[in-house]
Amino acid sequence: MRIRVDEIPESGRSLRFQWSQEDLSRFLPPDDPFEIKLAQPIHVRMELQKRPDHVEVTGKISGTVQVICHRCLAPFLFVLEEVIDLVMVREEDVPEQEETELEEEELEFDFFDGEVIDFDHLVAEQVFLALPVKTLCSHNCRGICPGCGRNLNEEQCACSQETESSPFSKLEEVKSKLPPQGRE
Ligand SMILES: [Zn+2]
Ligand SMILES: [Zn+2]
Repeated sequence: MRIRVDEIPESGRSLRFQWSQEDLSRFLPPDDPFEIKLAQPIHVRMELQKRPDHVEVTGKISGTVQVICHRCLAPFLFVLEEVIDLVMVREEDVPEQEETELEEEELEFDFFDGEVIDFDHLVAEQVFLALPVKTLCSHNCRGICPGCGRNLNEEQCACSQETESSPFSKLEEVKSKLPPQGRE
């Protein structure tokens, strides 16, 4: 979804569109750490207001995405509810506007070439902003057993007690197999 700024009427413009997996895939890095998949299309609702030196974009992005848990690697659903409140500024206008009142109000800025705003790019940015750095399926996710690789949320493995008893027991075991020191 790309909109020319000169096509936004003075009274403003409303945008409503949906985002499919295909739209999202275009913006995913090749080694996407979240493994994001759309459980259903993302709904985007935006209001555009043209101002003399910028474009105001407000609205909301909502949907449900499937991501993987960084602790247990299981996929789970993450509810996306991102409020958009952005000031789109022409790239070339930025240097001389550094101390305008806009910055003092600490508004969120984004930049465009002055003619066309790429709303797909904007949605992608907002989706990634909405995700935490490390997504967790739950605060008490028990993760994966480093010994056998089982998901400890689903089952208790045989090695877990050994691992929990003392992380140093493994170290002692390794040490005992090393040749004794200082006897060369
Ligand atoms: Zn988890
Ligand atoms: Zn285990």
